[in-house]
Amino acid sequence: MSRGYLVAGNWKMNGSSASNAALVEGLLRGIAECPAIDVLVCPPALYLDAVRRHIGAAPIAVGGQNLSDEREPGAYTGELHASMLNDVGCSHVLVGHSERRTLYGENDACVARKFVVARAGGLIPVLCIGETLAEREADQTEIVLKRQLDAVIAAAGIGAFINAVVAYEPVWAIGTGRTASVEQAQAAHAFIRGVLAANDAKIANSVRLLYGGSVKADNAASLFSCEDVDGGLIGGASLKAPEFLAICASAQILAASLDA
Ligand code: PEP
Repeated sequence: MSRGYLVAGNWKMNGSSASNAALVEGLLRGIAECPAIDVLVCPPALYLDAVRRHIGAAPIAVGGQNLSDEREPGAYTGELHASMLNDVGCSHVLVGHSERRTLYGENDACVARKFVVARAGGLIPVLCIGETLAEREADQTEIVLKRQLDAVIAAAGIGAFINAVVAYEPVWAIGTGRTASVEQAQAAHAFIRGVLAANDAKIANSVRLLYGGSVKADNAASLFSCEDVDGGLIGGASLKAPEFLAICASAQILAASLDA
């Protein structure tokens, strides 16, 4: 698979200077064991600069968890412009995480603006999409995924998806300990790739699709072995270096076997 695996950690609103330093130290001790995959961590904004400096030249990318949807910097108290994330060494930014959508009222249009601004600012957006439990039970999963994707494609154009990342995160699986089955994950990922392919098959094939939702060391290998799953977006399990590295190791084993 030419896309390669990406394992991303979303630290959410957790950590302190001391605990982040310990977490990064733990990651630095193990990251050399995973040369065939890409690894990304998304600390709280306040700590991005320190985490980036601590990582130094080690192969761990740093990303923001959120950004402003404003195109230009200015009088937007409390907001972060894409250029600021870039300035402190971020390569990626999460866009439209379900907690942003549900707790902070980000709708499809706002998420689409953020995707556009991230791209304009030289960042790789990790676009998070996914259905709620009620939507899945009402057989609305594909309708919701298509609506969330189409909003971004309409605003940014399919060309903006070149090398972008889409994370499929069923809302009912985030932080709940409940994981999508391998069949559910693969079906949703294949559907997402199909929506992208309807716009541009080549680009669709280049987009890395991550699964997110209660990924742990003991379920990562089976999820990552799905044809259209190119890695994971990891919340809770990214806060402990051994657990996160074990998830990375699952991707590493698969990546190495594909290379062989
Ligand atoms: C997330 O927040 O993106 C996530 C997947 O969280 P968790 O792994 O804790 O379910």
